[in-house]
Amino acid sequence: MDALQELEQLRAEATAAFGQVASPDELERLRVRFLGRKSRLTEVLRSLPQLPPEQRAAVGKRGNELKTFLETSLAAKRQTVAAGSQAPAIDFTLPGLAVPVGRLHPITQTTHAIISCFTPMGFEVVEGPEVEFEAYNFDALNIPKDHPSREAFDTFFVDLPSPQPSKGRLVLRSHTSPVQIRVMEHCRPPLRVVVPGKVFRPDPLDPSHSFMFHQVEGLMVDERTSFADLKGVLEQVLKTLFGAKTLTRFRPHFFSFTEPSAEVDIACAACRGTGCSTCGQKGWLEIMGCGMVHPNVFKAVGYDPRAVQGFAFGMGVERIAMLQHRLTDIRLFFENDLRFLEQFSR
Ligand SMILES: [Zn+2]
Repeated sequence: MDALQELEQLRAEATAAFGQVASPDELERLRVRFLGRKSRLTEVLRSLPQLPPEQRAAVGKRGNELKTFLETSLAAKRQTVAAGSQAPAIDFTLPGLAVPVGRLHPITQTTHAIISCFTPMGFEVVEGPEVEFEAYNFDALNIPKDHPSREAFDTFFVDLPSPQPSKGRLVLRSHTSPVQIRVMEHCRPPLRVVVPGKVFRPDPLDPSHSFMFHQVEGLMVDERTSFADLKGVLEQVLKTLFGAKTLTRFRPHFFSFTEPSAEVDIACAACRGTGCSTCGQKGWLEIMGCGMVHPNVFKAVGYDPRAVQGFAFGMGVERIAMLQHRLTDIRLFFENDLRFLEQFSR
């Protein structure tokens, strides 16, 4: 083997050896082996004067190139081996791989918040069908046959034969109140229920209307449940939802299925009822409807209206969520825009 071949072989050996080195000690052994005073490279360079003159220049040039190559490799390897011996095998400071985690929709969060105001007071959560009989959506709730809400432009009628024609046509329920009827048909008082769910009305989509929205309905019936109970329960709930200092106001209203009936308002948190720009000078914000269950509703489910009394209420979840989060457009809830939805952590 001549000197040039020997240098080529040395380069190949060194490249392989440096590739596997893992500790500073091993590296030092490699330095001695390839660059030390007794290394083959040193011997080759030292033997240059004995070489035939025509080989001397080429071997000298290659030998020095190899020496530079080895020194550079050694320096580079020294850095990585030093870093490797100090740092742990895993770099915990690197950003992790983010796993996308879902979260509850803001409407679901507000629904849960509303329900959790009632459950400590003994209210049970009940759900009912979204496709409902006319009898439950209207008749049993004392809504007269000629009431405008029964017109096609106020209710979605389902174009399918009713499985129980005696209960009328099928509709997409326009409120959660029919679940009150279903509960009372199957249970005797005392009862306390809250009913969350979707309701449907053929309203064109605009910042404050949607053809589908959510309600939480409630019903309490017992022998002597009074309007004072109604006020006590709802005031407590509104204070839990909007803060302990929330002012409430009960305003006379009309609903077919309750008598007397009221709308419940809360005072604008900014002006406490006097009117300001936040509340559009109104001072009060409408939150829900309520009242004492109408005797005709009790009769429709076979209760004796002289033996039991009760109250019912219903509130729009979107409306409450919009007040909580200071939103002005109901459509944001249904557009599924992650930039919006991701702002509601929890
Ligand atoms: Zn105000």
